[in-house]
Amino acid sequence: MPSSLEKLKKILLLESDRGFDNRAVVGGLDKILQTWASEASTSGLPETILQTIQDSIERYPSQTAVERQATVKSLLDLIDSAPEVGETKSRLDETDSIAPEPQTHTHDYQPGHVRAATQNQAGLIGLTANLTVLNGIGPKTAQTLDQLGLRTLEDLLYYFPRRYDDYSQMKPINRLAYGDEVSVLANVKSVNTRNLHGGKRTMTEAIVEDGTGTLRITWFNQPWLEKSLQPNTQLVLSGKIEMYLGRLCMNNPDWEPIEQEHLHTNRIVPVYPLSAKVTQKSLRRMMHQTVSFWAPRIPDFLPNPIQDQGGLIDLNQALMQIHFPDTMDHLHSAQERLAFDEIFLLQLGVIRQKQAWQANTAQKFTVTDEWLQNLYDQLPYPLTSAQLNAIADIRSDLASGQPMNRLLQGDVGSGKTVVAAMAIATIAANDAQSAIMAPTSILADQHYRSLTSLMTIDADSDNSLSIFQPGEIRLLLGDTPEAEKREIRSGLVDGSVKLVVGTHALIEGPIEFQRLQLAVIDEQHRFGVAQRSALRAKGDNPHLLVMTATPIPRSLSLTVYGDLDLSVMDEMPLGRLPIETHVLTPLERERAYGFVKSQIEMGHQAFIIYPLVEQGEKEDALAAVEERDRLQKEVFPNLKLGLLHGRLKAEEKDEVMNAFRNQEYHILVSTSVVEVGVDIPNATVMLVEGANRFGLAQLHQFRGRVGRGSAQSYCLLIPDHEDSVENERLQVMAETNDGFILAERDLEQRGPGDFLGTRQAGFAELRLANLSNVRLIEKARRLATQLVENDPQLEANENAALLSTLDRFWGSGRGDIS
Ligand code: ADP
Ligand code: MG
Repeated sequence: MPSSLEKLKKILLLESDRGFDNRAVVGGLDKILQTWASEASTSGLPETILQTIQDSIERYPSQTAVERQATVKSLLDLIDSAPEVGETKSRLDETDSIAPEPQTHTHDYQPGHVRAATQNQAGLIGLTANLTVLNGIGPKTAQTLDQLGLRTLEDLLYYFPRRYDDYSQMKPINRLAYGDEVSVLANVKSVNTRNLHGGKRTMTEAIVEDGTGTLRITWFNQPWLEKSLQPNTQLVLSGKIEMYLGRLCMNNPDWEPIEQEHLHTNRIVPVYPLSAKVTQKSLRRMMHQTVSFWAPRIPDFLPNPIQDQGGLIDLNQALMQIHFPDTMDHLHSAQERLAFDEIFLLQLGVIRQKQAWQANTAQKFTVTDEWLQNLYDQLPYPLTSAQLNAIADIRSDLASGQPMNRLLQGDVGSGKTVVAAMAIATIAANDAQSAIMAPTSILADQHYRSLTSLMTIDADSDNSLSIFQPGEIRLLLGDTPEAEKREIRSGLVDGSVKLVVGTHALIEGPIEFQRLQLAVIDEQHRFGVAQRSALRAKGDNPHLLVMTATPIPRSLSLTVYGDLDLSVMDEMPLGRLPIETHVLTPLERERAYGFVKSQIEMGHQAFIIYPLVEQGEKEDALAAVEERDRLQKEVFPNLKLGLLHGRLKAEEKDEVMNAFRNQEYHILVSTSVVEVGVDIPNATVMLVEGANRFGLAQLHQFRGRVGRGSAQSYCLLIPDHEDSVENERLQVMAETNDGFILAERDLEQRGPGDFLGTRQAGFAELRLANLSNVRLIEKARRLATQLVENDPQLEANENAALLSTLDRFWGSGRGDIS
């Protein structure tokens, strides 16, 4: 292995040991590039590998820890599979020879010839056509492209550059300066190739001139270049100006003979995301061939009026310019158009879903003002105005004759349960049944308890709404004993059970209802699409209320939940003290423990959260099982510590949770299973270890586990490593208790996929659209709404192409995201 790779490997391993904090090299990994790259290139490392490494390391500092981990892993793999020095044409270079060299192909090459396709049909056949039917892409190239996930012409056209280098600035040689990234138009004066190190490596050196001066250009291990670079050949050379022995030079620049189209040079050049086996240059060439033939031939699915009103360029232009922009302005127009397409298709699907939903009729449930006021009077607390508004929304939905389809969004602790209780009470007053489904048995159990105590007639309490007789509310979990399940099932069939609270068990068994009219789903983002419709299917067009404590940025809720009506509760019940949050370093852990002790001495309880259940072999994160033992022995020998994690059986989890609720434990050591909805008013400290491994929205959820009583509560965040970037990210937690602000940040930092969880459909297709671009989203929404108003079924001729694109975009299984 060349010593340069050896060196890099050491750095990467160190970086891995340090938890990817970008400190293995002083000042950050990218600081090695300057010296390392020239050393590596002198040592004969193939340019393709060099380029891949360079690109990866350039990106590294701005990546998240998880991305960094992936980068380091792929670099280590690359290093381990790197060819021995001296192989002039490495395995990795093969792709260069698949696409013919520019001198031989450009003029006679016809990339777009789909065999036996006429031009008119071409666009339609072509988009989903397998790449192998395109001339010039043989099985081998297809295989290579397959590794980038590119299988069809559409894949290729929509494989967008990750950045652009602007080489459109040409400079005469006498005006060049060290460090410039430029294109130079010059004439080859002389060229020769030398063997280095006993013939193991070669160096090709050309001297070029442009009338203002001469410049020395070197390429390593590409001896065949000498043939192409005959004296008096006009070249465009693009790259970085470096210094060698006090004189300016270029190493391994991109170059092209001047009569070629200036694909790589003298223009704004696309830089594509790559895998190790494709070179930038060959992919770019393939792209140019494909795009310039096909982009003009792709039929534009977006009806003209929408293009006009949206101020959008046509698809042909957009596809061409996104790959090979003439100017930065053209590029921006292309990005705008293609991002619009994504959002527009997403919104259109969502709007059509809402339309379909609204075409249904539902039973009307009405209650009088007096009846409602009477319930309010019996509550142990006055409702917030946010709660009152949400209840009013729900009340009018239930009375509307159309099925309610409402998302109740309220931060942790904002009091969603009592709002749901009002809906349940309305249904029960009209003699129908309700079901509430929660993602975990802990949560289902908690809902069961609080709804029972709130709603069941109880002689000992005057704080009950007295809606249900004892036994009319039942709890159904996966591990509910079979006999009891049978009893509940028959109670649901004969109508004697009025409200069933449960987990997935509600939809997994053969459960039938006499008259299910309200389905409530708590923490909706934890459920898949199919599960939500399965619950709904238990009734005859029941009303649906989904609740979430994950604040969703406005832009995102318009897009993802556009088919739902939205009630937002942005107000906390009175008397809640904001939770104090501190970001600590690992060295301050002892102080944190001291603080936990002092809170426990005051009679409170604490959570300590770990990112892992058990210590894995490679993971350096702390794990709940081991840490509980350590804390018990070394830190809190006189306290009782409970342990909760996802590998416990459901009933074991419930036992632990109940014991903690009953104050049998002082501290609950847990993994992220406590994330959702658990309510322990006596707990005042939430200590999160490995805080860097969690998203802000998730940390906010953890924090919401405390601060539920009247005492001041605290959230302490300790990242795995001391890391300024990470610290800064976490610091936002200390600055705000507003879940919406955190959600916006989270969305910016992690993107919508992570933010919503993998289960959320419809997002795989978003490549360009930035979901925090409210302006674009609102434009798309306005035009989509208007289109559906004018042509609800998209039957008009001019909308035919749009309809089929829409079907393809949404694909199968994406029909219901609510
Ligand atoms: P979440 O919205 O997170 O589901 P919950 O419904 O669990 O919140 O409510 C959290 C706590 O706040 C519960 O203990 C509940 O009894 C209490 N609560 C709800 N509404 C009010 C209110 N208006 N005033 C005071 N306490 C309230
Ligand atoms: Mg809740």
